[in-house]
Amino acid sequence: PSSAAAAGAPRFRVLSSMGDAVESFQLSPSSVLKIQKGDITVWSVDGSTDAIVNAANERMLGGGGVDGAIHRAAGPELLAACEEVPEVKPGVRCPTGESRITPAFRLPVSHVIHTVGPIYYSNKQPEVSLSNAYRNSLRLAKGNNIRYIAFPAISCGVYGYPLKEASKVAISTVKEFSDDFKEVHFVLFSDEIYNVWAETARELL
Ligand code: ADP
Repeated sequence: PSSAAAAGAPRFRVLSSMGDAVESFQLSPSSVLKIQKGDITVWSVDGSTDAIVNAANERMLGGGGVDGAIHRAAGPELLAACEEVPEVKPGVRCPTGESRITPAFRLPVSHVIHTVGPIYYSNKQPEVSLSNAYRNSLRLAKGNNIRYIAFPAISCGVYGYPLKEASKVAISTVKEFSDDFKEVHFVLFSDEIYNVWAETARELL
C-alpha cells in the first residue's frame, strides 16, 4: 500500500480530461498508475512519448471491439503499417502474448503497441499468456522511450477472460515496471470493468 493509504488518507479520485472518473495509485515515488473509465482512442498525455495498447489478434489486420475502434480512429495508414509487420508464420504477425509497435497516425498519441491476449477458454495457460501480453507491451514501450502508456482490458471482451482474474494479472504485471514510466493508465470502457480494476488496485497497491 502507498504511504497515503497507510496513513488512512483518502485516495486521489477526480475527473480526467476525458470527463470520466479516475483513481490514482503510486507505483513508486516517481510513477503513478491511473485507473479511469473512458475511450482509449481519445487518450493522450503529450503526443510524443505516449502510447496506447491495442488488444489485437494474431493477424494484426483489425477486428472488432477496441481493435476496430483504434483502426477507425487512426485511419487507413494504421492498417498499412500493420501489413508491413512481417509474418512469423502464415497469417500470424503477432503470436499470442507478444507485442508489436507502429506509429499512431491520426490518433493523439505517438505510438500504438499491438498485443494479443489469450482466448480464455482455448488457451492452456491463459494467465501466462495474459501476463506476457502486458509484460511484452511494457518492455517494448520502455525500449521506445515511451513515458506514458494506456491499456484497455486485454482479453476481457470477446476473448472472455474473467474480469477479476484479468485485473489481478494486469495490475501485478504493471507493478513489475514500477520505475519505468511516469504514468501507466488503464482506460476501461464500462463501469463494471472500471470498478473491478479499481478494487483490485486497492488490494494490490
Ligand atoms: P479481446 O479480443 O482482447 O477480448 P475486445 O476488443 O473484445 O478484445 O475487448 C477488450 C476490452 O476493450 C473490452 O473490455 C472492451 O469493452 C474494451 N473496449 C472496446 N472499445 C474500447 C475503447 N474504445 N476504449 C477502451 N476500451 C474499449
